[in-house]
Amino acid sequence: MHTPAFDELFNMLSGIVSEGTLTATNLARLREGIATFADPAECLALIEQAAQGRPCPHCHCSHKHRCGYANGLQRFRCCGCRRTHNALTGTPLARLRKREHWLPFLQCVLESRTVRDSALISGVHRTTSFRWRHRFVAAAARDRPTALSGIVEVDETYRLESQKGARHLDRPARQRGGVASQRGINREHDCLLIARDRTGQTLDFHTGRGPVSAPQLHAHLVPALNHDALLVSDAANVYRCFAREAHITHEAVNVAAGRRVRGAIHIQNVNAWHSRFKSWLAHFRGVASRYLANYSGWQRLLDAKRLCTPLQWLRAAIQVN
Ligand SMILES: [Zn+2]
Repeated sequence: MHTPAFDELFNMLSGIVSEGTLTATNLARLREGIATFADPAECLALIEQAAQGRPCPHCHCSHKHRCGYANGLQRFRCCGCRRTHNALTGTPLARLRKREHWLPFLQCVLESRTVRDSALISGVHRTTSFRWRHRFVAAAARDRPTALSGIVEVDETYRLESQKGARHLDRPARQRGGVASQRGINREHDCLLIARDRTGQTLDFHTGRGPVSAPQLHAHLVPALNHDALLVSDAANVYRCFAREAHITHEAVNVAAGRRVRGAIHIQNVNAWHSRFKSWLAHFRGVASRYLANYSGWQRLLDAKRLCTPLQWLRAAIQVN
């Protein structure tokens, strides 16, 4: 039996063959057709599969029984709290529709495609594409290493704050785009703190505007470091103060004085991460400050290379922590 999606794709192909040429418009139509061809039932089955063995999102009880279907998904009743849930309850994806378009869309996320390209390829509207990008990235980025151990490199990077897309600016608009009004790091900059251990486990923290402070380091790093961690940073005083107060073993490299490596003591890995992040970010042509945490989470997931297929991404997004 042919589904309507199959017939539609078949007609589109016949049209292209009879016209005898594959124009850019035809190619776009074809890509769109193939992407939307994913069988909704198959996608729902994959969602169920991704959520298999998940405990009750309300009370974490693992005893449940089946209790009918709603919107194509199996509904369960929890034996602990008696409430019902499905594969998506309690995840950021719970209220997203058009589930048959999710997997083609997630392929676009894996390929870091633009909002416009992702919309075209997966057959959704551009505003949906934008909303989904942030929902799927934020959902999967909840998967973070619990603790870093051994030598842990830490360093921060700054970006000029951006109110791209905001209805009301809380400052005068910049006349020449990305130029700060004063020199140096100040309240016009967003700080992104990266910590990475030598097994490659990485954590990103968006600490807010302006230079990172010792209390911010304390709040983010103390819960993230194993007791055996040796913290390595540049020679900035803020790291020294923080490490002393928090009783964390600490080594500093004097990058400013040109001494970048002292045996195993260096921050080359974390600096390489920063530079990969910056060049990756450049192709999005400006990212609003309020989404910076999503972009660093996205880069962290891509860089770790643990999520390589749309299904793996979906599974990570559905996980309830
Ligand atoms: Zn429950």
